[in-house]
Amino acid sequence: MGVERTLVLIKPDGVIRGLCGNIISRFENIGLKIVAMKMIWVSKEMAERHYEEHVGKPFFVGLQKFITEGPVVAMVLEGIDAIEVVRKIVGPTEPKSASPGTIRGDFAHLSYSMADERGIAVKNIIHASANKKDAEREIGIWFSIDEIYKYENIYEKTL
Ligand code: GDP
Ligand code: MG
Repeated sequence: MGVERTLVLIKPDGVIRGLCGNIISRFENIGLKIVAMKMIWVSKEMAERHYEEHVGKPFFVGLQKFITEGPVVAMVLEGIDAIEVVRKIVGPTEPKSASPGTIRGDFAHLSYSMADERGIAVKNIIHASANKKDAEREIGIWFSIDEIYKYENIYEKTL
């Protein structure tokens, strides 16, 4: 409980579809604070570091191909219980099962079975850290300390 930081990536499918503004607005609209942001075209090696828990799984090769096929927009968001709140806005992993109103439910509809049949990753627009341990590890992979800023947003100024 309390103020947390979480890592969000707009994956290559979200970037090429021009969804960055819409996605970022959803986080800003609820008062989450962007404390770091950049665009990166990741290497296969960085994809392995980020997705270390999935290395060796049947979908990993497709996942590595997916996350390296174009640039991603990476950001660190800060707010009260930000990890859980951001996952709620993102929705569950499989777009087919994600409710309308979530990012994955609003912008995709693909299923695990279709993706597995085709040997590709489920293209689901966005990544968000799953828990506190992952958030700390992932933020350390994507950002150095001096790329993460401390400032007060309007909500904090008027609290
Ligand atoms: P997330 O934390 O909700 O992104 O989900 P995971 O950490 O479990 O998986 C990482 C990413 O791998 C997902 O966002 C999907 O792009 C992909 N993925 C996960 N599970 C599967 C699967 O069973 N099949 C396929 N094809 N892709 C998957
Ligand atoms: Mg995950």
